[in-house]
Amino acid sequence: MRLRVRDGRIIDPAHNVDSVADVLIEDGRIVGLEPATDPDRGSTQGDAQVIDATGKIVCPGFIDMHVHFRDPGYEYKEDIETGSRAAAAGGFTTVCCMPNTDPVIDNGAVASYVRKRAQDAGVIDVLPFGSITKRQAGEELSEMGELVRAGCVGFSDDGKPVMRADVMRNALSYSRIFNAPIISHCEDLNLTRDGQMHEGYYSFVFGLKGIPAEAEETMVARDLLLARLTGGRLHVCHVSTRGSLELIRRAKAEGIAVTCEVTPHHLTLTDEVVGSYDTNTKVNPPLRSEDHVQALRQALSEGLIDCIATDHAPHHLESKDCEYAAAAPGIAGLETAVAVIMDRLVHSGALDITKMVSLFTVGPARVLGLDRGTLSPGARADITIIDPDRVKRVNPETFNSKARNTPFAGMELRGWPWMTISEGRVVAHDGSVG
Ligand SMILES: [Zn+2]
Repeated sequence: MRLRVRDGRIIDPAHNVDSVADVLIEDGRIVGLEPATDPDRGSTQGDAQVIDATGKIVCPGFIDMHVHFRDPGYEYKEDIETGSRAAAAGGFTTVCCMPNTDPVIDNGAVASYVRKRAQDAGVIDVLPFGSITKRQAGEELSEMGELVRAGCVGFSDDGKPVMRADVMRNALSYSRIFNAPIISHCEDLNLTRDGQMHEGYYSFVFGLKGIPAEAEETMVARDLLLARLTGGRLHVCHVSTRGSLELIRRAKAEGIAVTCEVTPHHLTLTDEVVGSYDTNTKVNPPLRSEDHVQALRQALSEGLIDCIATDHAPHHLESKDCEYAAAAPGIAGLETAVAVIMDRLVHSGALDITKMVSLFTVGPARVLGLDRGTLSPGARADITIIDPDRVKRVNPETFNSKARNTPFAGMELRGWPWMTISEGRVVAHDGSVG
């Protein structure tokens, strides 16, 4: 099976490629690039299927290292097949799913189940994270070796932060042995209890209990100290405050092995939108004030942040169709991530397009040590093609995800994923999958 993606603008930040060329694919692998100026172009691949990518941006397949697929246990919210379809529609070819399922991914059997279900769905690739602790209870480390052998690429108790410093210390020590990051959802639960939104001016005005920035920052500080103590590999998920960024900046300068991610919603929405009392604005960590959002944007363009991740958190209508305090936190983000970043950051001039592509490709690949995120010859033929000028309104009713929970509903955005190619097969085209 041969494929030629013709005349697109290729952006492959791993090798500083930015030029108009064809991408040649054979049997699920990248064969190479042929510049548009090559006089012999096309002569070697007579029977290839041709995709005309004129005017489009052709990138390595996008990687989202933070999704919740709710399978096993909560398939009514999302299952691995619908999650995979949402990922493909959103331009992603590899996603990593969090272990807060039922049962928890704390042993090889559950990890193997996730891998098998994703392969059966046959849409994109799903790599699981194992939990740091058994049942995510925060007390006893899970079978980390067994989890790695079953295909886990990192460890996280996301959503249930590891409150015991001694347990986190041991996890970070083991991360060296398995060469897999400990992905920390940094939140001191004693400081966030009953909190509904960011603590500040608007929490006072709206009369909702606040969550201080320090609830995140104290845990970032603790985990950085433990990473320094152990030499372990720490990845801080969904960083949302200026103070966290300062701590990470200092730690990186000091040589501590830390990486971090930021979500599209924390980059583009402030706590002011909570005033709508739309429960789709409830998320954990909460949407922060303008000052924090500006700090995140600055850190993103400076290169302090390693990747953009969605924290795709699909919920059933019942979990959101209720009063603010009772609503479950989370945004179904896979299908809007690229368009939100393109429209709000790239088209506005806040973020360079090459930088954006690296944050979705080589960035997460490096964090996880994956042999992906590039269009090098021999690599998996995972390709994301973006139409930078396509304008479309966000309509959750057309989502491939089972969930509809998004604060971006109704927004008109410019720059959407146009086609997703997974291992040499076209799996999504203009939002439709299959
Ligand atoms: Zn989290």
